[in-house]
Amino acid sequence: MASTVKDAIRRGRKTVETVVEEGRRTVENVVEGGLNTVETVVEAGLNTVETVVVKGRRKVESAVSLGRRTVEHALLHGRSTMQAAVLHGREDIRIEQVPIPKAAVGELIVQVGAALTCGTDLKVFRRGYHARMIVPPALFGHEMAGIVVEAGDGVTDFAPGDHVVALNSAPCGQCYFCLRGQENLCDDLLFNNGAYAEFIRIPGRIVAKNTFPVPENVPQEHAALTEPLACAVHGFEDSRPRKGDIVAVIGGGPLGLMILHVAALAGFETIAIVKHDGQVEAAKQLGATHVVQTASIRRAIQDTRALTPNGRGVDIAIEAVGLPEAWQEAVELVRKGGTVNFFGGCAANTHVTLDTNRIHYSDITMRATFHHTPAMCRKALELIASGKFQAGAFITGRAHLYELNRVFEKLMNRSTEIKTAIVP
Ligand SMILES: [Zn+2]
Ligand SMILES: [Zn+2]
Repeated sequence: MASTVKDAIRRGRKTVETVVEEGRRTVENVVEGGLNTVETVVEAGLNTVETVVVKGRRKVESAVSLGRRTVEHALLHGRSTMQAAVLHGREDIRIEQVPIPKAAVGELIVQVGAALTCGTDLKVFRRGYHARMIVPPALFGHEMAGIVVEAGDGVTDFAPGDHVVALNSAPCGQCYFCLRGQENLCDDLLFNNGAYAEFIRIPGRIVAKNTFPVPENVPQEHAALTEPLACAVHGFEDSRPRKGDIVAVIGGGPLGLMILHVAALAGFETIAIVKHDGQVEAAKQLGATHVVQTASIRRAIQDTRALTPNGRGVDIAIEAVGLPEAWQEAVELVRKGGTVNFFGGCAANTHVTLDTNRIHYSDITMRATFHHTPAMCRKALELIASGKFQAGAFITGRAHLYELNRVFEKLMNRSTEIKTAIVP
């Protein structure tokens, strides 16, 4: 009996051990199986999330590019030709139907919002060409702002729908002058024309160096002033004004008035030397401290000097007419140690005779600022966008592209217009 009990106990123990061990294995199996299941579920979930994210991204991307195409489409209206002014020669501008340009790599096509008339264009209209800038037959006009309708491959800074101002030129960035920060003197300055049109192609170099986004609250005809204003800011800064200087500006044309306004905004005492009644009003409105109105150079020198302490002359005289006699006048306006800036470009093959004694013994600094640099363009646009610059005062007329000939004929007859906005 005893052995039977012992046997039974022994057998029972084994049974318990077996049961415990089997149970353990089952638990391990379940845990392992569960772990596998969890891992599978997590992995499957990750895959699903990734798929959703990738799919979503693709959807967003295609929506954006679709949107872009829609904007392009809306702006182009499915057209392939446009109205544009073509310069054929002396006083010969024709409005023609030409193909809408296509953007190559790095380029932009901009729908012109406003193009502004400019003294340089007037010169070109009279002469029929410009050796460096435009050789006919050619698209014409260079001051403009508008909306991007097409961006070529590789353009990352701009997209269709962006408001931009694209300058008329861009430096190479590699020549001796560019590397010295004198990009206005670049050996390979690239010019662009064609602003008097519905659309304009902006070459890659100008897109990369001299095209800027315009805040949407800035009217396009104001933004188009960036180019001439960049020249004005450049001319003023190049004259190295110092606090307390009296600045005289000869000439009441667009550039003379801009330099005057820039100097006035910077807090300088200014003297505007102008000829016509309309220019007197404009100079006053733009902040001239004094206005000298005369057609006589002798009177201009006398009256300007009389406005300075002890008649010693102005600290800075900026010539913005572009006539040899006005260059000579500028030299006679400044004090000892003063600065003259021959800002206005004269006709080719003209010369001036200057009083060497006066220049040497009065220690006069002479500068002659030409064109602009990308840094000056940026400054000019900031000034326009700041709202301090009275952009509206410089745009005295508006006309349709069709009226371009009439506008230039009027400008040739020395009207009091400062700039006319040409709206295509
Ligand atoms: Zn211009
Ligand atoms: Zn260069």
